[in-house]
Amino acid sequence: MSKKFRVGILGATGTVGQRFVELLEGHPQFEVTALAASDRSQGKPYREACAWRLPCEMPARVSTLAVSAPQPPLDCDLIFSSLPGEMARETEEAFARAGYPVISNSSAFRMDEDVPLLIPEINHEHLALIKTQRKTRGYERGYIVTNPNCSTIMIALALAPLHARFGVESCVATTMQALSGAGYPGVASLDVIDNLLPYIGGEEEKIESETLKILGVMADGGVKPADMRVSAQCHRVNVSDGHFGALRVKLARTVELEEFTDALASFSALPQELRLHSAPARPVIVRDEPDRPQPRLDRDAGHGMSVTVGRIRRDAVMDYRFVALSHNTVRGAAGAAILNAELLAAKGRLV
Ligand code: NAP
Repeated sequence: MSKKFRVGILGATGTVGQRFVELLEGHPQFEVTALAASDRSQGKPYREACAWRLPCEMPARVSTLAVSAPQPPLDCDLIFSSLPGEMARETEEAFARAGYPVISNSSAFRMDEDVPLLIPEINHEHLALIKTQRKTRGYERGYIVTNPNCSTIMIALALAPLHARFGVESCVATTMQALSGAGYPGVASLDVIDNLLPYIGGEEEKIESETLKILGVMADGGVKPADMRVSAQCHRVNVSDGHFGALRVKLARTVELEEFTDALASFSALPQELRLHSAPARPVIVRDEPDRPQPRLDRDAGHGMSVTVGRIRRDAVMDYRFVALSHNTVRGAAGAAILNAELLAAKGRLV
């Protein structure tokens, strides 16, 4: 077996960081060799620094690794970052400049013109931006590749097959987002028991802008955003994991219900062709029961990497409406970044 890439995780003690540790345990290509978090955690073994919240045991080998400061050098070949957005920019930049590929979850660089906002099923061509990025920023070996916001990934994966086959002119998305999306400890329990919160700071803007970049095409060395209008309203609901979206779409041509459903259900792309380790067999699963998908029942579909779609109906205002669900810390965060890294490895960009 070929040698594994050594991986460092920034924000390793957090909600997304713990998912990275869980998903990378036993991974055929990656091995966790470095962990970093805030000064609250630095110098402690991971098992002491981290309040482990996942329903599995903390991997024994990782539990003894000491938590470092998030600054280069770290004992690894590449970096997964799940740092808070406000500090990610400076830190991720420092690692890229020091020669590390940085595969980031945070929002800091997502909309920068020379940074790929990658979903391997949709826009692997955008990796051409790495060359521009190295040139404009003077990076020699390092670079930054980002994955989208957790709700945006779900929405973009549902829209991509429709846009490719029919053209999507506009989409109105209403999300109901899980508590784990706010990190730990996140939303105060007294704010969310018997309640929902109709505001998630920055979320609506992220969905509206990121979706257009993801579905955009490479032109003149940059990404030309998709010619589409997206409107989003986001709500925090009392669900532990699994973001849910109610979507309405207007298409560029008349489409039969059967064709619409088939475009979603038959969607398959490069990660499936390459059989990347974390790629689900079906990126979009269509269910036809009237009461599915539901977060508790469907968030783990495809090991948490599939988006489940249901309730596909014609719409009296737009053309079609449907609901979508995906696991926000797996496909929406750590799993997305790991799939990005697997694609980068397959394309020979992690040497
Ligand atoms: P979280 O649970 O609050 O974890 C934050 C992590 O960052 C912890 O490891 C924390 O370390 C570390 N950290 C905080 N301040 C730091 C500092 N000044 N220096 C170094 N490390 C610091 O947050 P999260 O939900 O995992 O989110 C992390 C990132 O992923 C955010 O950018 C978020 O927007 C993005 N994201 C989250 C989700 C999701 O579903 N949760 C989905 C997609 C993207 P300590 O434990 O030492 O404080």
